[in-house]
Amino acid sequence: MADNKLYEILGVSRSASDNEIKKQYRKLAKEYHPDKNPGAGDKFKEISYAYEIISDPKKRAIYDKYGLQGMQEGAQDFGGEDFLSHIFGGGGLFGGFGPFGGPMGGMRRRQRSEDTVHPLKASLEDFYNGKVSKLQLNKNVICGKCRGKGSKSGQVGRCHTCKGCGVKTTIRQIGPGFAQQSQSRCPDCSGTGEYIKDNDRCNTCKGKKVNSETKILEVHIDKGMKENQKIYFRGEGDQLPDVEPGDVVIVLQQKPHEVFQRHGDNLQVNHTITLTEALCGFNFVLRHLDGRDLLITHPAGSVLKPGDVKTVEGEGMPYYKNPFQKGNLNIVFTIKFPDNHFTNASGFSMLEKLLPPKPAFTMPVGDNVEEVDLHDYDPNERSSHSGHHGEAYASDDEEAHGPGIQCAQQ
Ligand SMILES: [Zn+2]
Ligand SMILES: [Zn+2]
Repeated sequence: MADNKLYEILGVSRSASDNEIKKQYRKLAKEYHPDKNPGAGDKFKEISYAYEIISDPKKRAIYDKYGLQGMQEGAQDFGGEDFLSHIFGGGGLFGGFGPFGGPMGGMRRRQRSEDTVHPLKASLEDFYNGKVSKLQLNKNVICGKCRGKGSKSGQVGRCHTCKGCGVKTTIRQIGPGFAQQSQSRCPDCSGTGEYIKDNDRCNTCKGKKVNSETKILEVHIDKGMKENQKIYFRGEGDQLPDVEPGDVVIVLQQKPHEVFQRHGDNLQVNHTITLTEALCGFNFVLRHLDGRDLLITHPAGSVLKPGDVKTVEGEGMPYYKNPFQKGNLNIVFTIKFPDNHFTNASGFSMLEKLLPPKPAFTMPVGDNVEEVDLHDYDPNERSSHSGHHGEAYASDDEEAHGPGIQCAQQ
């Protein structure tokens, strides 16, 4: 949220008019001028700084929107970090200087155009082997003809609608005694606060101050980079007069791969083997992302069960910035059982001899024994069809819902 410090220093409200501000500044400047009031320390500097910002419609609009963080560049002009951190009590206030202000830092509230974000789709092979991708994009470049003025004469007037501040303030009544104030970019000047006469507009940029140019960026996808990793091209964003251009940010996105899935630095492959292979061992060849063929063998008798996972160490993704180290390759096995109804009566008895013995079974005797049929399970079939024990359940359990109750009504 924007702060209110500069208005407080001047002792005026946020909505104060230019005239009020000027009057108040003159009064304070007299009072705290170092000649008259040598004991006031930096107070005079503070007042001058606040006035410099608030009296300038453009700077004021930025300050209103972004607070002191938005004023960083002004701060440098005025005497730097020390002076301002002295006024406003320590570092933290200024994103660009503070501990969060590194190149990857989240604070982007300086007078700086917005970053341009482009997704770039790449294959898993590209992430594994590395690749240089060329990306063509359009960017706004300051018009060379008018040097970013937008007018032939170099003259620029003030927008009448917003009085030059570039911001349109709307006050909306949202209930008795409650009003909501919202600010939006002035539609007539697109937030520039400026107005150029039709016949004075630059022929090249039509008064827009910038022209669109095509630029080709070479994007280096390094081995081991990850999905959503960002690659920054500093200052390659759209140019605007008097504004530091933002970055072009490429966000890597991985296309799905037919064979491999990536989980961090590990790769996963789903591989289907037959029941025979699961019991008797197997060989198969897996073509890796760099074109090598991996020969994978599994010995007979070391039985694989459905869903078993085996690992090949060091055949996963290369580590980012350390590509000679690699994660693991995990193979998840699906076992394909023989088709239904395979008929080889003598085969069963042979199989039975080879496999571990079946659990012992004793046939029960008496009136309670009922032989039932097994059918294929159909998840859509109502359970009421099979409820011939329903009455017993319903009387056992009063609270029974679903099948029990339905059965009891039959
Ligand atoms: Zn305007
Ligand atoms: Zn131009």
